[in-house]
Amino acid sequence: MPTVLVTGGSGFIAAHCILQLLAAGHEVRTTVRNLAREADVRAMLKAGGAEPGPRLSFFAADLTSDKGWAEAAQGADYALHVASPFPSGVPKDENELIVPARDGALRVLRAARDAGVKRVVMTSSFAAIGYGHPARKKPFDETDWTNLEGGGDLTPYTKSKTIAERAAWDFIAREGNGLELATVNPVGVLGPVLGPDFSTSIQIVKGLIDGSVPGMPKLSFGLVDVRDVADLHLRAMTDPAAKGERFLAISGDYVWMRDIARALKARMGKAAAKVPTRQLPNWLVFIAAMRMPELKLVLPELGKEKHATGEKATRLLGWNPRPWEQSAVDTAESLIALDA
Ligand code: NAP
Repeated sequence: MPTVLVTGGSGFIAAHCILQLLAAGHEVRTTVRNLAREADVRAMLKAGGAEPGPRLSFFAADLTSDKGWAEAAQGADYALHVASPFPSGVPKDENELIVPARDGALRVLRAARDAGVKRVVMTSSFAAIGYGHPARKKPFDETDWTNLEGGGDLTPYTKSKTIAERAAWDFIAREGNGLELATVNPVGVLGPVLGPDFSTSIQIVKGLIDGSVPGMPKLSFGLVDVRDVADLHLRAMTDPAAKGERFLAISGDYVWMRDIARALKARMGKAAAKVPTRQLPNWLVFIAAMRMPELKLVLPELGKEKHATGEKATRLLGWNPRPWEQSAVDTAESLIALDA
């Protein structure tokens, strides 16, 4: 079985990718910023049912430095480039996200090319597709790119993902030397959390289930399950039809936060007792954001209706994501089990 490099093994999506690669029989190499995190990653994988022993090896590499990437890529047949900064707040300087996302992607691609890796699957994002556009009814798809001149709903994070993905395609065209690239562009990712250090997207469900969100902002989200995102990475890694393609990963279409709350209440009974049902007016969310900086991230999204489709992944790669309602419940139950 081919050997696969997964960057950022400590992350939510990367850990689920590693689980599926191990289950499929691959040897996996993964990078972490600090090798002290090996035990955390192994504990997350154990929570997901895997104890890979020497079938999984660790390499220290940071997206902001050249060190370690060549060693990590050596001997890999494929690479999943998943690592990228995804903070819950807005940094003072957008370059805190843009520089590691863009330069890190180029470091990984260069190391992969030099090591003779066949294909890199990069975890891009819907952030590189559906921002900086005027409101529209037409669903976003892989032919759309976030408009960096568009203002409005652009954030340092959406910029970082767009600039990094553009840089990756430019690299392949200019100096890829036969290296293949495919990207997976997920919307908000939910699903079973494997450890206490969970991704920013989990906050969508955590805030509802633990009652820390007093009411629902008028926000809509595209949702997809982390297990289906990992599955799409594996399909995009080997399927000849994925070469040179982007794949938007979404289950169904965008849904309002109120729909997520209703699904949790309907399916989880008492465990969802703290889930709010009250819709918050937009002005109240603006006032709350003065005290809660993490809310600033969603202010440009308030009241906006969006649509997106994952039809291409289904058509080209046979991808079949589970319903988002199931992912929301599985997220909540994993948080409750972790007492998080
Ligand atoms: P996560 O759990 O926060 O994982 C982010 C990973 O990136 C962590 O392993 C983190 O390492 C690593 N990383 C951050 N800065 C780094 C640096 N300078 N050098 C090396 N590694 C660095 O979030 P996630 O949800 O799994 O996100 C993984 C990828 O999916 C990201 O590219 C993100 O943009 C993309 N994505 C996520 C979603 C979503 O809703 N979750 C949606 C679309 C796209 P540490 O553990 O050391 O911090």
